[in-house]
Amino acid sequence: MPRIVMKFGGTSVADLDRIRAVARRVKREVDAGNEVAVVVSAMAGTTNQLVAWCQALSPLHDAREYDTVVATGEQVTTGLLAIALQEIGVEARSWQGWQIPIRTDNAHGKARIAEIDGAALIRRMGAGQVAVVAGFQGIAPTGRITTLGRGGSDTSAVALAAALRADRCDIYTDVDGVYTTDPRIVPKARKLARISYEEMLELASVGAKVLQTRSVELAMNEHVRVRVLSSFLDAPDDGTLGTLVVDEEEIVEKETVSGIAYSRDDAKVTLRRVPDRPGIAAGVFGLLADRAINVDMIVQNIAADGTTDLTFTVGKADLARAQAVLAELAPTIGFAGIDTDTNVAKISVVGVGMRSHAGVAGTMFRALADKAINIEVISTSEIKVSVLIAAEYTELAVRALHTAYGLDAG
Ligand code: ADP
Ligand code: ASP
Ligand code: MG
Repeated sequence: MPRIVMKFGGTSVADLDRIRAVARRVKREVDAGNEVAVVVSAMAGTTNQLVAWCQALSPLHDAREYDTVVATGEQVTTGLLAIALQEIGVEARSWQGWQIPIRTDNAHGKARIAEIDGAALIRRMGAGQVAVVAGFQGIAPTGRITTLGRGGSDTSAVALAAALRADRCDIYTDVDGVYTTDPRIVPKARKLARISYEEMLELASVGAKVLQTRSVELAMNEHVRVRVLSSFLDAPDDGTLGTLVVDEEEIVEKETVSGIAYSRDDAKVTLRRVPDRPGIAAGVFGLLADRAINVDMIVQNIAADGTTDLTFTVGKADLARAQAVLAELAPTIGFAGIDTDTNVAKISVVGVGMRSHAGVAGTMFRALADKAINIEVISTSEIKVSVLIAAEYTELAVRALHTAYGLDAG
C-alpha cells in the first residue's frame, strides 16, 4: 500500500471549516488506498501570539520555556483534526512529538531532528488508522519539549516521510506551488512545475518562506519526493498539480535565474571605528558563534586612519542577544560604538545557471540603480547574489528584478 505524508500549514487549518476541509482531503487519500500520516501546524496566527507573549514577559526569556509555550499551538490542531476525521468515519489519532518520539538535540527554539522512531506509527497506519502528528515539535535528550524554528512543520513532515519511508510528502499551503518569487507581492510571478533541491534550498535560506530551509536540506539528503500544492484548490490530482522538488538532472530547461526572494528578518549591525589588527574578526564572530547567533552578510572597510567600520547582519530575533555579546566585547576590542538598523531587507536572486553565466550581479545592480535603490551590503555564493537595502523598497526591488531577469509571466 502506498504510504504518504500530508502536511497542512497554518492558514490551511485556520478555523473549523478549514479543518473539516482538510479532513475531507485526507479521507480522499485514505479512500484511494493510501496509508496516511498528516502533519499539522498551529492555526494561523496562534504561534505569533504565543511568541509575542514570551517576548512581552522577557525579551531574553528562557528558550526552554519558550518551547513549552509555542509548541502548544500544534497540539490543539492535532486533536481537532483527529476529531474532524473521526466525525466523517475515518479512524484517526493525534500524536505529539514526545509520544512518537521525534528526538531532537538540545537547541531550544531551533532544534534539529536527530531521530524519529516510526515503528508505532507504521503499525497503526498499517491497521488503517490515520496518524495526525504535531509539526514543529520534538523532545530533547533532557526530556524537555523542543521546537524546530519558525516554519518547522515542513521539516517535521519531511523527516517523518523519511522515517516512514513514505512514497511522497505533500506540503499543502495557501499558494498552489513554488513561484519565481512570492506571488503575493509580484502578481506576475510564474509557478514552477519543478525546482531543483539546490535552488529551493538557496531560495528558502534567503527568505522564501514556502518551505523551511532545513526541510529542503533533509529532503535532498534523504531523497524524499516533496510536492508543494494548494489546500484551497480542488482540482483532480493528475500528477501535474503544484511544484515538485527534484534533482537538478531532472530539470530540462535551466534558467540563469530561477527565483527571487526577500527577507525582512535581518538586522544590520555596524561596529564603528574598530582597530584594524589581526584577530578582531575572529574575536567578534567567534563569540557570536559560541552564543549560537548566526551572522549572515559581512562587510569591512578600512579607513585611512587605521580603523575600520565592520558591518554585518544577524536575525532580528537574535539582535538583543547580539547587542549584549558585543557590549561584553567592547572593553577588550575597543570600538567607537554600535549602530543597529532593523529597517532593512535582504533581496536575493538565485539560479544554478549562475555557475556558467557571467553578468548576473551586474544586471541586479543596474536594475536597482535604475530605481534609485541604494545597496548597503552585498554577498554572493555560487548560485546566489544578495543585497541589503532599506526595507521600504522591498517590493519595488523584487518587482524590478523579476522584470530585469525576464521572469514576468507573459
Ligand atoms: P504555511 O502556513 O502553509 O506553512 P507559509 O506562509 O509558511 O505557509 O508559506 C507560504 C507562503 O510563502 C505563501 O503564502 C507566499 O506568500 C510565501 N512565498 C514566499 N516566496 C514564495 C515563492 N517563491 N513561491 C511561493 N510562495 C512563496
Ligand atoms: N506553527 C509554527 C510557525 O508558525 C510552525 C509552522 O507553522 O511550520 O512557525
Ligand atoms: Mg510555513
